Amino acid sequence: MKANIAFLHGPEDLRIEEVELPPLKPNEILIKLKACGICGSDVECYEGKSAEGRYDIAPYTPGHEWAGQAAEVGSAVTSVKVGNKVVGDCVLPCFNCANCKDGKMPSACLNMREVGFRPDSPGGMGEYMILEECYTHVIPDDWAYELGAWVETFNVGYWGVWGNGCDPDASDDCVIIGAGPIGLSASMVCRTSGAQVIVVDPLASRRETILKYGADHTVDPSKPGYLDEILRLTNGRGPSVVIEASGNDKGIASLFDIAGHSARVGLIGHSIGRKVPVEIGKTIWKTLKIAGSGGTDKWFPRTIRFLSRIKDNYDFAALNTHHFNFKDIHKAFDVACHDKANARKVMLTFDE
Ligand SMILES: [Zn+2]
Ligand SMILES: [Zn+2]
Repeated sequence: MKANIAFLHGPEDLRIEEVELPPLKPNEILIKLKACGICGSDVECYEGKSAEGRYDIAPYTPGHEWAGQAAEVGSAVTSVKVGNKVVGDCVLPCFNCANCKDGKMPSACLNMREVGFRPDSPGGMGEYMILEECYTHVIPDDWAYELGAWVETFNVGYWGVWGNGCDPDASDDCVIIGAGPIGLSASMVCRTSGAQVIVVDPLASRRETILKYGADHTVDPSKPGYLDEILRLTNGRGPSVVIEASGNDKGIASLFDIAGHSARVGLIGHSIGRKVPVEIGKTIWKTLKIAGSGGTDKWFPRTIRFLSRIKDNYDFAALNTHHFNFKDIHKAFDVACHDKANARKVMLTFDE
């Protein structure tokens, strides 16, 4: 069967090519793509600013924020039926190597694949993709596909807040640095946990938006005195939870100033391959607990349940500010790269 698939050959060298799909193995699912978001990391790879997209072994098919419909299932597949709406993991562990058998995170897998960043794990920027059953998850029939395309993003924010020790509750003051899609997800998660949510972002449009997605207060870090403002909002204590969701050098450096004593700190925003000067000594005298989040471990089913319960409290559709048909993928990347202030989420759509 032939399909049109996008391939990144190098920075800003994205081509739609017609390819013959391989026959389905017994444990695989053929998925007809219905929606695929463009992530900030897709933009960084497209611009050649991130080592995550593997140009050394390119071409590869980007797209890890996808949702689609099972078009065909392999003979051994039992948990997914033809017609099901599905989404899938991004970081794919092998389950067989020494680290997988030792119960380590998927990102520790010695044979790790990563959907949408490498040729061995093609992403959702194509008419069809093939994925093994163990990484494929059914979403409820009543979900829009574009909500499904948010599961991966939300999963990263949710795991960064609740999967790795930040665990906010109603006694906590959470500061989230960065009001992009991951920050928006973290904001809704912290709010659902009952905590007070304060979001720090220099862009006014993002600060305005996140007030509708869980934030109680927003702070502009470009204004002098913003640290005092955070202290005031937290009764002089400083936040007990800090989520770094910007991946921005200044944002990362600021967390050491923002965090209150004994704060739990979750790092989610990407900053691969750069050194960021920070005042690391504050980790010691503030007794900070800093946790990374390299992938999310078996967290998709939980994310789907979480989203099912909160999806009607928030206008997820309004977050998809731009839509482009897959055929216009170059225009879509153009907007995602050059209009970051207005493009909250650029969504690719597909013909029936
Ligand atoms: Zn992403
Ligand atoms: Zn492994």
